[in-house]
Amino acid sequence: MNILSNLLSQPAQNKNQKRQRRGIEIKSPREIDIMRQSAKIVATVLKEITELVKPGMTTADLDAHAEKRIREMGATPSFKGYHGFPASICSSINNEVVHGIPSAKKVIRTGDVLKVDTGAYYQGYHGDSCITIAVGEVTPEAARLIRVAEEALFKGIAQVKAGNYLMDIAGAIEDHVKANSFTVVEDFTGHGVGRNLHEEPSVFNFRTREMPNVKLRAGMTLAIEPILNAGSKYTRTLSDRWTAVTVDNSLSAQFEHTVLVTESGYEILTDRTKLC
Ligand code: MG
Ligand code: MG
Repeated sequence: MNILSNLLSQPAQNKNQKRQRRGIEIKSPREIDIMRQSAKIVATVLKEITELVKPGMTTADLDAHAEKRIREMGATPSFKGYHGFPASICSSINNEVVHGIPSAKKVIRTGDVLKVDTGAYYQGYHGDSCITIAVGEVTPEAARLIRVAEEALFKGIAQVKAGNYLMDIAGAIEDHVKANSFTVVEDFTGHGVGRNLHEEPSVFNFRTREMPNVKLRAGMTLAIEPILNAGSKYTRTLSDRWTAVTVDNSLSAQFEHTVLVTESGYEILTDRTKLC
């Protein structure tokens, strides 16, 4: 399986990387407190972008806003420079699935299904979140795809609790997507997040026996990020070597949150609804 999400994985200049233990990290209360802050920066930026985006803007405009605000809040953009990715957000429109590169030539139009994914690195820890925005009036099918994608994320999150398993998350997402006649993209997965943008474990959005079915423990921090297509689940990568698109040009939508596993359930660290 081609897990392309790892392309954006390792922060090249992360001096803490040397200290990384193998396996799944359990964050201490101190680390969790810092992650709440890095995640809040990400949530703030995505909330602002939702309010800012208008037809006629370019994806480079959104990227410039994200980078400015991430730095103003004392963090650095997690994505910029990693494995050569040139921007602070991934902006993927309509049939683009993930890793779209912001561009001054890419004009946002009414009716677009716009995915914005960003990360912030703050005091040694990353936050990571993605939203899909309906720009102006979208088709009923696009609106349904976006709604079901967000529901799928929350179905997955609802399974997060110490003692549950990764496949409980995967199964809940897969079942909800199938029940709504959309497809789950299998080429990309969620991941652990913390000192590194992508850590163990891989968080699948569909049932699989290819990876260990890890038991969740309090203190794990997971980026859960289902991607749904309206048509084929298959993707291909464009010649820019980043942008993944659906093979049949069907629409794609994604939502992602950084989530803390607790004894009794979960805490959504990138929750935008709790921002004042
Ligand atoms: Mg992300
Ligand atoms: Mg992620």
